[in-house]
This record gives sequence, structure tokens and C-alpha cells, in this order.
Amino acid sequence: MRKKIIAGNWKMNKTVAEAVELSNEIKRELADCNSVDVVLCPPFTAVKSVSDVVSETLINVGAQNMSSEENGAYTGEISHSMLKELFVRYVILGHSERREYYKETDFWINKKVKKALEKNLRPILCVGEKLEDRESGNTEQVVEVQVREGLKDVPAEAYTDLVIAYEPVWAIGTGKTATSEQAQEVHAFIRSIVKDMVGEDAANAVRIQYGGSMKPDNAVELLAQPDIDGGLIGGAALDATSFAAIVKAAM
Ligand code: PEP
Repeated sequence: MRKKIIAGNWKMNKTVAEAVELSNEIKRELADCNSVDVVLCPPFTAVKSVSDVVSETLINVGAQNMSSEENGAYTGEISHSMLKELFVRYVILGHSERREYYKETDFWINKKVKKALEKNLRPILCVGEKLEDRESGNTEQVVEVQVREGLKDVPAEAYTDLVIAYEPVWAIGTGKTATSEQAQEVHAFIRSIVKDMVGEDAANAVRIQYGGSMKPDNAVELLAQPDIDGGLIGGAALDATSFAAIVKAAM
């Protein structure tokens, strides 16, 4: 039985003061939640403060990106050791906004995934098709390449620590959600690719989140699907009541 995981991607929102306020509100609602893994992913500048707020609770902290390199002349980058020093446990990698605006490729995303796993950080690898891919019937083809390339050379035993987020790009921040049938279909497809790559045990162990305008009112149905193991939440994660309601829907 896979434990559900709900992660909030705050993106480039929240000053330190605002992040402390939001994480305190979430802590009040969810501090004792142990049936669902809860992850807050603030911007880098607020990671330390959010970690301080949720220390001694079951709430985890995640980052929104990480360098594939150890240290050195990589202006603007953040390394695994910098994150771990701040008690970060998860890291979102390959989000569609990073693929689109910062031209991150599967090759680099794969390097980051492997570095995160090597250093005991849990990657949340984002994959998903654009609207034109779906409309031209290429959803599976696009997602398959992203999964195979993003997880290239990742050993089967690492899949228990790995999370895949299926995020159809056309559903992110648009208010358009994939129907639970559409999402389940792609989730099952992703699990079948993992099975083909590294075997049935890993395919059964890996958690696959849905992301794309998940809200309290559609979360219950999405999370009831057999291959949907949680959610990666953008907009609704910026409101403690909405985020907590989604977590409760996963319980
Ligand atoms: C996201 O960016 O990962 C996301 C799912 O955003 P939203 O929930 O706002 O669609």
C-alpha cells in the first residue's frame, strides 16, 4: 500500500514573513497528520524559516530545484548539501515551468535526479504533455520519453524514494483539471513504463502524484483513482485552508 503524498509548490511566491505565516497556519491544521506525507516547497529564500516552523512536526520541507553539481562556479545555483543543511527532504525536478522558461532538458533533469538520490534527497520528477501534444494524440509518446530519459540509470531499489508527478501542462494554473479518468489513464501508463524499465516491485512502489489545478473540490475524486498516489499543488497550496482540505481528502 503506497502512502499518499501531497506537496505544495509555492513557486516564486511568499516573502520570508509570508512564508512563516502560511507554514504556521498549515502547521496548526496538519501538524499531527501521519497518514499522508505532507511536503511544503517554498522559494529558496524561505526554506530555512519554513524548516524552523515545521521542525518537530511530521511536515516535510522540499525545494523547487537543485543543481546537479557538487559546488563551485555555478552562479545562481543551489547544491544538495545547502538544501540538506536546512533539513530539506524532497526536491521538485523538471517542473514544466523550468523546462519551458529555463530550457531544462531531460539530460540535465536526469543528472539532478541521480544526484538527489545519491545524496538521500527524494526527487519529485515532473512530467507532462502540452496541450498541442494531447490534441495531436502524442500524450503517451511525450510522457514516455520524459520518464525514460528522466529516470535513465536509476536503479530499481531507488524507486521507493522517488516520486513522479504527472502534470499535464495545459492543466497547470489554468483552472482546467484533467478528468480523473484522463489522469488515471496516464498514471497507469507511467507505472507500466516503470515496470518495463526496472520491474514490477519498483512499479508498485513508486508514488505518482497528479498536478494541475488540483483543488479541494476535485481532490477526492482524483485521489480515489488506483494509480494516483497524491498531488503536487500550485495555486491551492498558497492558502492554508485549501491545502489542508486537499491533504484531508488524501487521508
Ligand atoms: C504546479 O505548478 O505544479 C501546479 C500543479 O500548479 P496548479 O495547482 O496551480 O495548477
